[in-house]
Amino acid sequence: MLTEPFVHDYVRANIWHFTGRDADLLVDTGMGICPLAPWIETPEGKPLLVVATHIHLDHVGSLHEFPWRAGPRMSAAQFESMDEAATYAYMFHDLEGAVSKLPEPGWKASDYKIPPAPLTRTLDEGDVVDLGDRQFRVLHLPGHSPDSIALFDETDGLFFSGDAIYDAMLIDDLPDSDRTAYAGTMRRLLDLPIRSGHGGHGPSFDGRRMREIASAYLRSVSAP
Ligand SMILES: [Zn+2]
Repeated sequence: MLTEPFVHDYVRANIWHFTGRDADLLVDTGMGICPLAPWIETPEGKPLLVVATHIHLDHVGSLHEFPWRAGPRMSAAQFESMDEAATYAYMFHDLEGAVSKLPEPGWKASDYKIPPAPLTRTLDEGDVVDLGDRQFRVLHLPGHSPDSIALFDETDGLFFSGDAIYDAMLIDDLPDSDRTAYAGTMRRLLDLPIRSGHGGHGPSFDGRRMREIASAYLRSVSAP
């Protein structure tokens, strides 16, 4: 797991580098305030498949640095321009305490901009991301955002969940959030045989903890 330690914790996301036999996987790319690619070590000639779980700023900032870019089919058109209406990059411009340490002298949050990163592969429910010795099924899990996808290894229950579920405060009040859809996602997750989950924020979780988080969310949205 990699992260950006000097960025505001509201937009400090987890970046997952997973080693496969024939290819490596990178799940999400952070804000991109400093270059990410130099920190990702892969053997010479081994492909690195980068998957963006959704188009929010804290997951796609460094996506443009990598040649093999996969992401949700639903928001594919917006990856071509990194439209601020989709990434919410504008929310960072006047965020109090945006960074605790400047990446370079004179850096300003108000200049923050995400370079376009057109997808080279689009992913939707049921697609497979294959690393040779391990296959991840793509799940479409809307609610936090309409385009949220996750990667699930049905063989051993390894789960990269993005912001569909994680063990920290869930965000369901963004302009493109949908609480009804999110509740549907939580009900689906209750039946998913997760062994080890790694989300876009917060610590990793096992299946039992994930069901607790999903159940708590369902209680919160059904409360009067
Ligand atoms: Zn998000």
